[in-house]
Amino acid sequence: MEGLLTFLGTGTSMGVPTLGCDCAVCTSEDPHDRRLRPSVLLRWSEPMQGRERAVVIDTGPDFREQALRNGLTRVDAVFYTHSHADHILGLDDLRPLSFTASREGGPIPLYAAPETAEVLERIYEYTFSPQSTYPTRARVQLKTLAERTEVHGVEFLRVPVLHGEMEIAGFRFGRAAYLTDVSTIPESSFALLGGLDHLIVSALRYKPHPSHATVEQALAWARRIGARQTWFTHIAHELGHEETNRTLPDGIRLAHDGLSLPINLGTVNS
Ligand SMILES: [Zn+2]
Ligand SMILES: [Zn+2]
Repeated sequence: MEGLLTFLGTGTSMGVPTLGCDCAVCTSEDPHDRRLRPSVLLRWSEPMQGRERAVVIDTGPDFREQALRNGLTRVDAVFYTHSHADHILGLDDLRPLSFTASREGGPIPLYAAPETAEVLERIYEYTFSPQSTYPTRARVQLKTLAERTEVHGVEFLRVPVLHGEMEIAGFRFGRAAYLTDVSTIPESSFALLGGLDHLIVSALRYKPHPSHATVEQALAWARRIGARQTWFTHIAHELGHEETNRTLPDGIRLAHDGLSLPINLGTVNS
């Protein structure tokens, strides 16, 4: 089965251009240098019924604009990597899509680790509290993220990674993996990343950061994992699109907003 992955956003937490900055990348006229907050969309068509399915990883503050740009009219599930603002603050914009989902079959499942769910429940108390009487709250349901989760025939494997001191979730689906906000990949997680066509991994900038990989670290992982193609995301304004891509080896490139990749979603053999 084949799916299509689309980068909804490839920017770091502040987005690019970064507010108040007049650097060369923030003032660039190249559309590839405009990066919304990080998120990906995976769409596929279910073999038997031919129904279109869509899963989003993270709903950041740009989710509404990203959904409009990419013609997203349904969401079957959301996976959350962790609870930082740039990954969760668009949750409320699921509301209109959740009303449709709920009429069709039920609330949209949101898969999140317990620590992430706790933050979501606190911020969106009016959505999740059983006492909530807010009539147009999102029809969504938090579900504890398991090692493997199946969504309409596609298996999502949790790939634990470290973001500074914090363990967060990366995901593998078919022959692709999405690892954002990574500073360390634990040894045990490399075993989940064999045989990839596409590895998507975050690479913030050249200068070290306590909770994000630099280009150099991400390059080392890319070589070790050996996917056919590696894409960098969660990119800060230090990295101009064209200029950085010219320095990267074959098979490794910066992703950009709106980039779509066909993904083989066959079963994961690990
Ligand atoms: Zn982030
Ligand atoms: Zn800048």
